[in-house]
Amino acid sequence: MVTIGHRFNRQLRMRVIIIGGGLLGLTTAWFARAHGMEVTVLERESGVGRATSFANGGMLHASQANPWNEPGVFWHALKMLGKEDAALLVRLKALPYLLGWGWQFVRHSAPQRYLKNFEKNARLAHHSLASMATLRAAIGTGYHYAARGTLKLFRTEAAVRAAEQMTHQLAEWGIAYEAVNAGRAVELEPALGGIESAIAGGLYFPDDESGDAHRFCELLAADCRARGVKIECNVKIKQLLRAGDRIEGMLSSVGVLSADAYVLAAGPWSPLLAAPVGVNLPVRPAKGYSLTLTTQGWKDRPSLPVIDDSLHAAVCPLGDRLRVAGTAEFAGYDLKLTPSRIDNLFHLVTQLYPAFAPHLNRETAVRWCGLRPMSADGVGLMGRSSLANLYLNTGHGPLGWTMAAGAGQLVADELAGQTPGLDLAPYRLARFG
Ligand SMILES: Cc1cc2nc3c(=O)[nH]c(=O)nc-3n(C[C@H](O)[C@H](O)[C@H](O)COP(=O)(O)OP(=O)(O)OC[C@H]3O[C@@H](n4cnc5c(N)ncnc54)[C@H](O)[C@@H]3O)c2cc1C
Repeated sequence: MVTIGHRFNRQLRMRVIIIGGGLLGLTTAWFARAHGMEVTVLERESGVGRATSFANGGMLHASQANPWNEPGVFWHALKMLGKEDAALLVRLKALPYLLGWGWQFVRHSAPQRYLKNFEKNARLAHHSLASMATLRAAIGTGYHYAARGTLKLFRTEAAVRAAEQMTHQLAEWGIAYEAVNAGRAVELEPALGGIESAIAGGLYFPDDESGDAHRFCELLAADCRARGVKIECNVKIKQLLRAGDRIEGMLSSVGVLSADAYVLAAGPWSPLLAAPVGVNLPVRPAKGYSLTLTTQGWKDRPSLPVIDDSLHAAVCPLGDRLRVAGTAEFAGYDLKLTPSRIDNLFHLVTQLYPAFAPHLNRETAVRWCGLRPMSADGVGLMGRSSLANLYLNTGHGPLGWTMAAGAGQLVADELAGQTPGLDLAPYRLARFG
């Protein structure tokens, strides 16, 4: 048996293996190391942050903490079944894989459950932005960090009224906002001038942040290494090995590895590793697309992250690039880039910023898709599992960048035997019974 790290001495250090070198694995590693643990991160790719954490929407937005399974989602998904340009597309081939999970997903769209889950997310997101400040103090702001807030736009009066009904809840959960009219929206983001007459209203969230998740992963990994964390890439975990109510090791591409505790942070692939040891995770992949455009040479280019509610699109400036992200597709683990979904994103940018349409360079645009690890109730899975030394940090779905720092800190606190800064009970796997 290959042993990672120094031999465990309870008086000295606990050895932890973290499976997955994405946002959630790396933040957990950093905070676990801060508690003095011997930490190893295992990642099957050749570098960190190369899977779902690679080219996401770039927004750390506590303001968008609402789970996707909002009331009425079932009928909406049914109407969109098979429609290539739908914001939420369910492919027929994915249906068998979604059956049990899908039932839970729909069950959690009941208004009371939805609101409860929304609150859990809002509280975690709020907590997470504070944890992010701790990480920023260590790694700096070189990941195109910006703290300009986000602007959410609505194109119909009905959408404005629906949003207004939720805003008092956001304030109660500690999320600041300003209701804006079209003029104020353009004042905040002059690049929206071309569509001022189409804006019915909006909400500006001043505390939201943005940044490049992949660059953040690289910086955090470098800092982790400098602090003594081992990050081993090109190592694939093939199987967890269970003995009684514990994990006793893991079969990997470099042999059998063991530690005192294990954190499963393998994103959408987490259920595939957990199920064979009897831990069933209600997490399924939801594919999303992004486009990264260079804005070099654009005069008065966009500078504020903007979410267009009616277009289901998010546009986020990252230095001299513009990230456009959106759409959700339930298609299993298929990572094929569907050209029509990418075309939708080009179309969305031109609808938001018509003046920049002539400058869009399709040749240099970077097309990407990733699999959001979606939990059935829209809330991430953190902390203890049903096995004594197996911990979870996964299932954060469309909010993984927002939640990463807070979730990493909370799971590391629990590993260290300390009371986490936010009660973990509502986020544990045990909530699914
Ligand atoms: C289009 C899109 C836009 C998004 N926009 C936003 C946004 O604006 N804001 C936001 O908050 N969130 C956003 N998200 C969500 C966010 O990106 C994810 O929730 C987050 O990246 C998930 O991180 P993770 O660490 O859980 O998973 P991953 O980044 O996928 O990391 C898991 C890692 O585990 C590794 N792994 C898996 N199996 C094994 C194995 N057997 N052995 C070894 N290694 C293994 C993988 O290679 C991977 O690197 C978006 C997602 C998408 C797809």
